[in-house]
Amino acid sequence: MTQLDPKSPGAADKPRPVVHPEECKGCGRCVAACPKKVLRFRAGLNSRGNRVVEYAGEGCVGCGSCFYNCPEPYALDVIVPEKPAAAKPGPAKP
Ligand code: SF4
Ligand code: SF4
Repeated sequence: MTQLDPKSPGAADKPRPVVHPEECKGCGRCVAACPKKVLRFRAGLNSRGNRVVEYAGEGCVGCGSCFYNCPEPYALDVIVPEKPAAAKPGPAKP
């Protein structure tokens, strides 16, 4: 179980990928798989000497393609916020 990084970019009410930097191996599969091209390599390396992917900060549609293409079980999550329940119509008036 990984902890979500509270500093992860992206609006809290929008779908967004969350990369766990120490688990990412820098293979780039998520970058290639993203239909919106909103994942990219960030500058520098993590403590294991790997390149790390980051979210550009907007444009994610929550499709999950990055998640399903990532070979590392703890490197990447996709957050899809629940939509507020639609207002239900009240009882019909007699
Ligand atoms: S969930 Fe889809 S749109 Fe969002 S970063 Fe992953 S692949 Fe791209
Ligand atoms: S697919 Fe997973 S391990 Fe590979 S670069 Fe993306 S987050 Fe890192």
